Amino acid sequence: MQTQQASPGSTFEQFDAVIVGAGMVGTALAGLLAGAGMRTALVEAQTAPLDLSTLDTRTLAPRVSALTPVSQRLLKHLGAWPDMAATRVTPYRYMHVWDGEGSGSIHFSADEAGTPVLGHIVENGVTLAALNRHVLTLPTLSLFFGAEVAALQTTARGRSLVLKDGRELNTPLVIAADGARSALRALAGIEVAEESMEQDAVVTTVRCEKPHGGTARQVFVDGRPLAFLPLTDGDDARYCSIVWSTTPEHAQTLQGLSREALGQALQETFGPALGRIEVLDDAYRFALIQRHAKRYVLDHFALVGDAAHTLHPLAGQGVNLGLMDAAVLAEEVVHAWRRRAPWGERVTLARFERRRRFDNTAMLALMKGFKQLFGSRLPALTLARNLGMSAMSQAVPLKRLIMRQATGERGRLPRSCR
Ligand SMILES: Cc1cc2nc3c(=O)[nH]c(=O)nc-3n(C[C@H](O)[C@H](O)[C@H](O)COP(=O)(O)OP(=O)(O)OC[C@H]3O[C@@H](n4cnc5c(N)ncnc54)[C@H](O)[C@@H]3O)c2cc1C
Repeated sequence: MQTQQASPGSTFEQFDAVIVGAGMVGTALAGLLAGAGMRTALVEAQTAPLDLSTLDTRTLAPRVSALTPVSQRLLKHLGAWPDMAATRVTPYRYMHVWDGEGSGSIHFSADEAGTPVLGHIVENGVTLAALNRHVLTLPTLSLFFGAEVAALQTTARGRSLVLKDGRELNTPLVIAADGARSALRALAGIEVAEESMEQDAVVTTVRCEKPHGGTARQVFVDGRPLAFLPLTDGDDARYCSIVWSTTPEHAQTLQGLSREALGQALQETFGPALGRIEVLDDAYRFALIQRHAKRYVLDHFALVGDAAHTLHPLAGQGVNLGLMDAAVLAEEVVHAWRRRAPWGERVTLARFERRRRFDNTAMLALMKGFKQLFGSRLPALTLARNLGMSAMSQAVPLKRLIMRQATGERGRLPRSCR
């Protein structure tokens, strides 16, 4: 991959937009803005981008995401999807969710949803490396990898981002895509509502005795969702990525177990659906905190992705919401830029916030509600959730509605995702 780092010589540079954070969301946004012809800077703390041609794909990486068909269309629009598909993606056509403490259970299928697949499980590294191949080579994109942000200043015509090496990037629009603990969000003075989910997610990769059959499975035991997300390597469809959200104490215990003992613990909780379970990797642990920025935009400043919101991973929506932020923001900004309207001013950015806040708020509330419902030990709620799941399983219109949420087909989609 031939990428061009911006020259360190010049101290002041002018851009149409400056994005901080080259994760999946920031890089997708850079592709949309620079792809439309806007002079864009991408600033990233890591020293070098992931390169698809040297990506180690011999083993399955532990960090994966369930990508919706809508995210898939955006990644296709950016040119990344064919490379992802040629590297490793696993489609799933079925979802099975059940209550480990009762009889409630619900099945979803792509046929019922009227789509070829419900989604794909993809290693985050594969998505990012494929995006990098198509985005980082765009001629109107300047890269500032290995850069540290020292200050964010307000100027007469926008913002100035000052890097620790003294360079200043001037622009009408700075976008923070620098993740959950966004330093840019703090520099801009945007407050965030934060609530611990009182759970950690334990993540690892396993190989099962039986093939997964293209089904994403999740069982709730004691309010702790355990997901088995299907992965296929070559022709072998017996791998799964595990996300077990549990109390921090239990997560710590699980992380300290030998692989054999962890396999046993997974087996006891998950049951016999996939036969014997062999743990292939270390167990990684992530504290689950729900965050929502109190505003997404200021004059000449916007937040996208985890910098704007983080949520419980039980429905696998985090990066999908972030990619949708990127697509909607790009649609509004490019539209204004083409008309020579003030693309960095609040009047333009407020349209992005209006379009995204409702969807993100609804999904955050839904995840919190799910967690509370399944976390309850009150007999009435246990009964309700079992009756509810079984009744819902029969209610086709309601299931369709849920599937539209899960596949991302909701609201007015930006053109790049249609
Ligand atoms: C256990 C778990 C399972 C998940 N499963 C799913 C799933 O199935 N589906 C799904 O949609 N989502 C899932 N998510 C959420 C998903 O991983 C995140 O939403 C997504 O990675 C966020 O992407 P991002 O680009 O916004 O941020 P990040 O991936 O955090 O990227 C931020 C980038 O900014 C850079 N950066 C940070 N600070 C600075 C700075 N000061 N200056 C310059 N650069 C900086 C970082 O180096 C990084 O490259 C899961 C999360 C967890 C924890």
